[in-house]
Amino acid sequence: MTVIGVDIGGTKIDAGVFAVDRAAGGHPRWTLLDRVTAPTPRTGGPDVLSGVAGLVDTLRDRHGDCRAVGVGAPGVVDGDGTVRVASAVLPGWAGTPVGRRLRSRLGVPVVVDNDVRAMARAEASIGAGRTGRVLHLSVGTGVGGAVSQDGRVDRGPRGTAGEVAHLTVAATGPLPCGCDARDHLESVLAGPALAAAWRSRTGRPDGDLWAAAAGGVAGGVPDAALVRQVALEVVAAAGTLAGRALAGLVCAADLDRIVVAGGVARLGEVLLGPLRDGLAAAAWPRDRRTAVVPAALGDRAALAGAALLAASAVPERDGGPDPASRTGGSVDDLAVEIAVGLGTGSDGGGADAVAPDPPGTAVETGAARTLGARVLHAGTAS
Ligand SMILES: [Zn+2]
Repeated sequence: MTVIGVDIGGTKIDAGVFAVDRAAGGHPRWTLLDRVTAPTPRTGGPDVLSGVAGLVDTLRDRHGDCRAVGVGAPGVVDGDGTVRVASAVLPGWAGTPVGRRLRSRLGVPVVVDNDVRAMARAEASIGAGRTGRVLHLSVGTGVGGAVSQDGRVDRGPRGTAGEVAHLTVAATGPLPCGCDARDHLESVLAGPALAAAWRSRTGRPDGDLWAAAAGGVAGGVPDAALVRQVALEVVAAAGTLAGRALAGLVCAADLDRIVVAGGVARLGEVLLGPLRDGLAAAAWPRDRRTAVVPAALGDRAALAGAALLAASAVPERDGGPDPASRTGGSVDDLAVEIAVGLGTGSDGGGADAVAPDPPGTAVETGAARTLGARVLHAGTAS
């Protein structure tokens, strides 16, 4: 069977169709067959849902009908798939009945959850956070988080467990947090905040920050070394503040590791190194060496999580994964084949900025290549 996963981001909507194959040993193998993206409309919830439906229709035209659709959506999402609280990142998003509208429009089961929790679901099931108590930190257009325990994401009674955007930091950020505060983690660490800090120091366009921080300063730029140095300083300052803010949480929530995902996280050690340093400087002695690792699924985590959500709506008798695999009971046995490609051309370049898959994960991109799928070309951090 196939399912479709959709990730609604602040700047783009990403949709992928996955084949779910249970043939080998009863455990599902997930293969991402195709992927399409479109800019996120800034004109309200109905237009965003039209964008989602358009991408799903494109994938169904190419690959036939799917059994279910999973959606990772920004904001606090209730059990019926309605957005209860949303930041200003997406105007007019709060109150949107995402699940109900898409079920009606698409004619298949639709399961909706918060986008960061969807990402965490994938990393907790088949990625870098499968065991122990894990904070899944997302750093992109905004900052978000979720907590998992032994492969199961903890939603919390009000749906905000692991939401770290509003942790207080010992600084004033260049842009307000989604809640308008200026001393919250999001106000110093989110991509737009880093870009604002960069502009105020250099007067250069945002793209130069991501290129320079990733080591991609164009040859021939007379002050390339200085540009690179300032880019590293901007990212390091935010990363250190983040590490210090998270240090207390490691003890309070008794975390084993922190898995970092999202567009800014594609900078890899440029961000993760300072974050570890900040954590080590501020944490309780026992917690100073807490593992801080990149997401194993890279920028595919949110899509894969949305696909896992979709599959959860398909009964086992209809080809859905068995319940034990769904809830993380035997996730170590899952095999994942993810072949990513297509794109629209706008995603080109920057592949060297993608966080590498750590050794020992279940991700098998090599096997997927034998299916003739195209190769991922990731965009630069944004
Ligand atoms: Zn806040």
